[in-house]
Amino acid sequence: LERQGDLRRMLEHQLQRLDRDWVHFYLFHGIGWDNFWELDAQTGWIRDMFRAQEEGLVRHVGFSFHDEPQAMIDLVNLGWAELVTCQYNYLDRRNEVAMRYAASKGVAVVVMGPVGGGRLAVLPKGVAERTGWSAQSAAELALRFVASNPDVDVMLSGMNSVEMVEQNVMAVEKGPLAPAQVQEIAALMDYYGRLAKLYCTGCQYCLPCPQNVNIPRVFELFNYLTVYGLEEYARREYARLMGKGQDASHCIECETCLERCPQSLPIPERLKEAHAALSAGA
Ligand code: SF4
Ligand code: SF4
Repeated sequence: LERQGDLRRMLEHQLQRLDRDWVHFYLFHGIGWDNFWELDAQTGWIRDMFRAQEEGLVRHVGFSFHDEPQAMIDLVNLGWAELVTCQYNYLDRRNEVAMRYAASKGVAVVVMGPVGGGRLAVLPKGVAERTGWSAQSAAELALRFVASNPDVDVMLSGMNSVEMVEQNVMAVEKGPLAPAQVQEIAALMDYYGRLAKLYCTGCQYCLPCPQNVNIPRVFELFNYLTVYGLEEYARREYARLMGKGQDASHCIECETCLERCPQSLPIPERLKEAHAALSAGA
């Protein structure tokens, strides 16, 4: 959407391509508090959206969300949306309170990334011991954790084979986890989260680095490796970072980032440590 009236033009084009007079759900991608208003000033999309609903071209509207949780609450309070799609899994429960709020206001909650983009296809360390869960059922645990949240209406999980579809259906049909298991996992992840934040909060104040080192991402992956025990995922993603030339090996110790870090982390030193661990065996 760039110009006034773009939403209307796009919608008419989409209906034509779909060969439909109207659609049940119309979803807006990547809506946050700022772009909700900025885009409207530029394109008048809010007016066009209400008009499309009044005319029956669209029955229900919703949005996918990547902003801070408070922004979801604020967007829900505007009363325009009937559905929100957001990230949620047992490794990342940032949106939990906002999801509860949305559900309490009758807004449907759709979760994307229930297996954490593949991170939870293996069990973080300590989970098997605490829950008695086997490593083979890691994805099932992740799906059933999300399914245990009463505020979740729909869970979206990427599947690329019939076998995966069958496995996921079987997992969900087993129903929610026992409340004690949910609490165990949540408590362990909260503990890991606190440990990880002691190291780097991911605030990004250290960026940009003149050498293009993605400092917060390197530390995040180092945390996945050392705190959560997600070795395969951490090393695979670090290899990807190396492919983009954003890994820690490019640090020239210029120290530009040091004074910007509110955690006073000795960044160049920690980067060396992270690189040695994450690139081992590469
Ligand atoms: S010390 Fe390293 S990471 Fe920090 S700004 Fe300089 S090159 Fe980038
Ligand atoms: S400024 Fe410090 S705490 Fe923030 S992302 Fe960079 S290294 Fe992490």
